Amino acid sequence: MLSDDQLLRYSRHILLDDIDLAGQEKLFAASVLIIGAGGLANPAALYLAGAGVGRLLIADGDTLEVSNLQRQIGFRQSDVGSNKAQALVAQLAALNDSVQLQAHPQFVDQHWLAEQLHDVDVVLDCSDNFATRAMVNGACVAARVPLVSGAAIRFSGQLAVFDLRRDDAACYACLYGSGESRDELCSESGILGPVVGTMGTLQALQAIRLICGLPVAEKLQLFDGHTLEWKSLGFRKDPACPVCGLQR
Ligand SMILES: [Zn+2]
Repeated sequence: MLSDDQLLRYSRHILLDDIDLAGQEKLFAASVLIIGAGGLANPAALYLAGAGVGRLLIADGDTLEVSNLQRQIGFRQSDVGSNKAQALVAQLAALNDSVQLQAHPQFVDQHWLAEQLHDVDVVLDCSDNFATRAMVNGACVAARVPLVSGAAIRFSGQLAVFDLRRDDAACYACLYGSGESRDELCSESGILGPVVGTMGTLQALQAIRLICGLPVAEKLQLFDGHTLEWKSLGFRKDPACPVCGLQR
C-alpha cells in the first residue's frame, strides 16, 4: 500500500496505464546498479531517483573536474575535487530521501560485480571505455541481469538493451565483438552535453520499462545530434559468441 505522500509524489506515474500502482510498487522494490557517474549516469540516476527506484548503487573511481560540469548536470561547482559516485549520491539524496543510495567510490572489478549482481534487477553501463563495458557485460551474462548500454561521443549517441534474463538474448559482445578496441575519449574528441544527456535519459527510460515489465526492443539506436535523426538497427544473439554462446 502506498502512503498518501507517495500517492501524491508519484501521481504522474500512477496516472499512466502502463505504470499505475503496480508499476510504482515494482519501482519501489527495484535495485539498479549504475556503472560510472559521468555524463550518461548523471541524468539516468536523477530520473531513477526521482522515479522512486528502491535502491540505487553507483560506482565510479573518478574525481570530478571542472571540465565535467559542462555536461554532468547532477554536480555543482562545489563538488569539484570530490569522488563522482559520492558527489552524485549526495545530490540524489537531496532529491529523494526515500531511495536507498550506495556509492562505490572505486572502479569496478569482476569480483565486486559478481557480488553485487545477486541483488540487482538492472545494470546501466554508463562507463566510457571498452574494457569496462566488456567486464560489465560478462558479469551481466553470468548473472542473467538485463544490461542497458549507452555511449556518446561528439554529436553521436548509441543505446542498446540486452535483456539477459532471456535465453535467446544477444549480449554486448554479440553486437560489438569481444576483441580490443581503441577507445575514443571525450577528453580528446569532445562531447556535446545534451547529446550524452539524451542517451543517459533514455537509459533511465529503458530501465523503468524493464522494471515495470514493459516490452523493450532489441535494437541498436543511433542518434545524430546534427540532424536529430535516429537509426534503428536490429541485432541477434551470435551462437558463436565467446561470452554468451558457451554459457547458454
Ligand atoms: Zn554474446
